[in-house]
Amino acid sequence: MPELPEVETIANDIRPGLVGSTLESVRVLRADVLRGVTARRFERALRGRRVAAVGRRAKHVVIELDDEHRVVIQPRMTGSLHVSAANGASDRYVVIAADLSTGRRLVFRDVRRLGAVHLLTPAAWRRYTERLGPEPLERGFTAPRLLAALAGRGGRGGRLAVKKALMDQRRIAGVGNIYANEALWSAGLDPSRPAGTITSAEARRLLRALVAVLRRSIRGRGTTVRDYRTGTGEAGTFQSRLKVYGRAGRPCRRCGRRLVLTHAVDARATYFCPGCQR
Ligand SMILES: [Zn+2]
Repeated sequence: MPELPEVETIANDIRPGLVGSTLESVRVLRADVLRGVTARRFERALRGRRVAAVGRRAKHVVIELDDEHRVVIQPRMTGSLHVSAANGASDRYVVIAADLSTGRRLVFRDVRRLGAVHLLTPAAWRRYTERLGPEPLERGFTAPRLLAALAGRGGRGGRLAVKKALMDQRRIAGVGNIYANEALWSAGLDPSRPAGTITSAEARRLLRALVAVLRRSIRGRGTTVRDYRTGTGEAGTFQSRLKVYGRAGRPCRRCGRRLVLTHAVDARATYFCPGCQR
């Protein structure tokens, strides 16, 4: 599932081909990816609108239109977005296609159709974004803010495993299973530690580790384990640089102990080093 670095890569890739162009015709080929809007209303609302901005929030691509409505796309497992030549080959996995005034075409393709597409008014967008936690790469996201985020609203999340807290989108935006595993290894923290026991010094280490791995992955155009493709249709490259994810049984790059895979922390695959994460 694409996390912050993968969705950031997709948004960066499609932005130059989209911003400033007008959506001339929009076709929804598979309406089951739409949330809270019919295909007819979605097509009508987008037709003739100019794209004002393309960004990312958490794990979602956000296309802002000139009337301040936003199209929010969650690629999830098998969704991909690209801008390509309008006469290029189409295929049966295209779920939404929009012809642009530049002669190019924006395509959302989703093999298993697990993705989701929302059309939000400015007020609906405010509610949507308020439910998500702070962005870890934003300036001003400091170690005290990370500690507060891990504790959750009202500070009641202290007993939750730190890995689970990191992946909770209401606490921190954009971090999923791969980067939670990587950041906790890099910071030398046990993924099952209750979030409320993390000290200020550990929070500083965790923040540095998290920011570093997210930035490095963006530079590597994200991690392709299976389906993720960039906005230009290629695989990412960061999978070859993962330190723990997918490396169970292989030696820890810091202390040499064999890395362990467990599903006991949060039912997801948790990889950790029993030597230097205790
Ligand atoms: Zn180790």
